[in-house]
Amino acid sequence: MSLKDYRFDGEEKLELRGMNTGAKKDGVDKEDILRRTEKNLGRIEALQDKLYADGRESVLIILQAMDAAGKDSTVKHVMGCVNPQGIDVHSFKQPTSEELSHDYLWRAMKALPARGKMALFNRSYYEDVLVVKVHALQKNYKMPARVLEDPDFFKKRYRQIRHFEEYLYENGCRVVKIFLNLSREKQKERFLERIQVEAKNWKFSQADIRERAYWNDYMDAYEAAVNETATRHSPWYVIPADQKWYTRYLVSEAVLGVLEDIDPHYPKLPPEHAAELQECREALENE
Ligand code: ATP
Ligand code: MG
Repeated sequence: MSLKDYRFDGEEKLELRGMNTGAKKDGVDKEDILRRTEKNLGRIEALQDKLYADGRESVLIILQAMDAAGKDSTVKHVMGCVNPQGIDVHSFKQPTSEELSHDYLWRAMKALPARGKMALFNRSYYEDVLVVKVHALQKNYKMPARVLEDPDFFKKRYRQIRHFEEYLYENGCRVVKIFLNLSREKQKERFLERIQVEAKNWKFSQADIRERAYWNDYMDAYEAAVNETATRHSPWYVIPADQKWYTRYLVSEAVLGVLEDIDPHYPKLPPEHAAELQECREALENE
């Protein structure tokens, strides 16, 4: 098995219930995976430095998952390797009243990476076709009746997201979408740990249990979101999340993949600048 088996670019349909959530079926060796992850992180660091220096393209990494799937720890471990100046992390929480008074892409737009930079969205505008769909939250939003009563409300949002990501791609920003695919059993185990281990208590909220009750609805919403928005230029990766060491490896592969595809280079100086550098060098040496 490799990352390819977890990549969705619109060619094949995702059937979430048939997807692997753990490392076991892939028959991988943990020590080997840990070594490969370290190697990948080194490569990511080097390529990110070039991306920043080159300043032409940007990368947006979207992390989506059920609670306790390991979003925070993925951010910490995989992004910990890159120069903090080159990456911004944004967590998308329940929208504020100001955010709700705009279209749903507005707050994401403000957080898009500048050229040369990477941005990581911990949750994203996909919440607007996930949690919003599961709980029909849009019914409480102030929007015209023609929008709210449209039976194609979510179908149109998928289309808007596809177009938005295509627009970003055509303007030099790559979008990589990652769904950390946790099993329901593993979520229960991690919740229990958060309750039992005092140092992890702060991570647990009763709301998490309430959302867990909607597990099947969430799986349907994720499956639809992936199938409706996976494209060649901005694919989805549906990554097993039951073992964190394996998750981190696959996420590192996905991030490395997009950076390798961009293939950034340090800028080459035009000849007149090269001559200026030479003059500066001589001036310094003769000080
Ligand atoms: P943690 O792992 O720390 O729990 P988290 O991402 O779950 O991280 P929380 O503050 O617990 O952070 O939850 C954020 C909540 O905001 C989630 O339940 C998410 O569904 C919700 N949310 C995010 N975007 C939207 C949105 N556009 N509309 C409604 N709810 C949203
Ligand atoms: Mg939470």
